[in-house]
Amino acid sequence: MGERIPNWLLQRSHISPNKPALIFEDQVWTFQEMKDIVQDLQAKLASSLKEQDRRAAILMKNHPKMVWLIHALQQLGIEAVFLNHRLTTTELGFQLQDSQTNLLFYDETLAEMANKLREENPQLRIYTTTQYESFPNQQLEIRDEYDLAATCSIMYTSGTTGKPKGVQQTYGNHWWSAIGSSLNLGLQEKDSWLCAVPLFHISGLSILMRSVIYGMPVYLMEQFDEEKANSLLQSGQITIMSVVTAMLSRMLETLGMKTYHSSFRCLLLGGGPAPLPLLEKCVEKGIPIFQTYGMTETASQIATLSPEDAFKKLGSAGKALFPAQIRIIDENNREAAPNQPGEIQLKGPNITSGYLARPEANQVAFEQGWFKTGDIGYMDEEGFLYVLDRRSDLIISGGENIYPAEIEEVLLGHDAIIEAGVTGIKDEKWGQVPYAFIAARNSVSEAELMQFCRTHLAAYKVPKKIIQVEALPRNAANKLLRRKLLEYLEQEKQS
Ligand code: ATP
Ligand code: MG
Repeated sequence: MGERIPNWLLQRSHISPNKPALIFEDQVWTFQEMKDIVQDLQAKLASSLKEQDRRAAILMKNHPKMVWLIHALQQLGIEAVFLNHRLTTTELGFQLQDSQTNLLFYDETLAEMANKLREENPQLRIYTTTQYESFPNQQLEIRDEYDLAATCSIMYTSGTTGKPKGVQQTYGNHWWSAIGSSLNLGLQEKDSWLCAVPLFHISGLSILMRSVIYGMPVYLMEQFDEEKANSLLQSGQITIMSVVTAMLSRMLETLGMKTYHSSFRCLLLGGGPAPLPLLEKCVEKGIPIFQTYGMTETASQIATLSPEDAFKKLGSAGKALFPAQIRIIDENNREAAPNQPGEIQLKGPNITSGYLARPEANQVAFEQGWFKTGDIGYMDEEGFLYVLDRRSDLIISGGENIYPAEIEEVLLGHDAIIEAGVTGIKDEKWGQVPYAFIAARNSVSEAELMQFCRTHLAAYKVPKKIIQVEALPRNAANKLLRRKLLEYLEQEKQS
């Protein structure tokens, strides 16, 4: 048994019972109210549990009921398996089977999916919110403490590079992630965090965990809406918001000439490469943008650019959060010199205890206390991290390394381009050459784009071909699937 800390929900409602915990549409719940709801729910859920139940899956959209359920499962010591409702039932069926989960809670809007999952897996017990809310209350012992080494949640990676892996996140991972974030961003009396990212992703769940650990209100949005988000950020009620690139582009597009309230102090941008033109636009508008680097395996952020460096190091993901360490390892398995790219490796108490049931993946990912991310980056002389790309997407052309993200960033700087994706194509002479795929808002010729690339990129990085498509392939987390770009090319050849 590991180190223990007080049950964070009970401790929080004891310390700050009357502080707002959750705001959804026009409703507000204090920590005391939240604790009462959760304790009642916990007693109900207990009557549905079988002795062998160790995990329960959550298939829900962002909603207060999902928040109550997450806390109730923690109170019961049941591991929560977070399901992404944008996936197919085949993909979710795999996750349930992989994690050996036989119990699932869902909201009515996702009934069709839940029923389908049960059809395919007769062992699965499924309950809607209205069903479990009418279960009889069962008398329970209250958990006074959480074991930091115990698994709290299981979340599958986005599956950008391959089949999703189940990441086990412990209570300690969430605790240290929240502490590390507050040591970096600071914590202010008036702080409130806007959560418009899904709670089934670590970006969303980590906001809830911070809320209960810090005693900070969360504004929860059922789904991202750029106009609503903009008006909240203009109102002065929000001080921090987490976004991914696609959300930020939409917010800036509808914001027009306006900007945000002066009390809005941090726009945390993560989840994927941050194109420089987008960062520059934020700086121009005085929007406090913080680029951050993290992944499901690190229970959210592990590096973030601090406010004092935000302007002079634009494009960097900053330095490690206080409890964590970062190193760059080159091809010869040595620590890389400044500005030399290599694999980003991480160490820290917020890093997963391991992938569920994946001995080989664990073998590859962990080495002497370090976690190997499979991402490539470099550190400048001052130790600021720059994330270049995923190792698996690297293009090697005539012996030169080409990072697709760099070419995509250049293309995204062209006014006509909405989306850009680059991948390597086999080539007899060079081994591989970059091909670009774009979606454009208005018509633009390949020749013009080529010329644009030539002025911004070294010759060997200029795509050999730029192919216009309707939209780029993305996964359920809206991440670009570069490995699927090749299929477009094959389709083109056939037509
Ligand atoms: P899978 O592991 O299944 O391929 P995934 O890695 O996309 O999926 P996530 O854990 O959601 O799943 O994403 C984390 C990844 O996102 C990081 O490993 C990195 O490749 C990318 N990423 C996160 N932050 C940044 C950043 N600031 N710049 C560039 N890439 C980033
Ligand atoms: Mg990954």
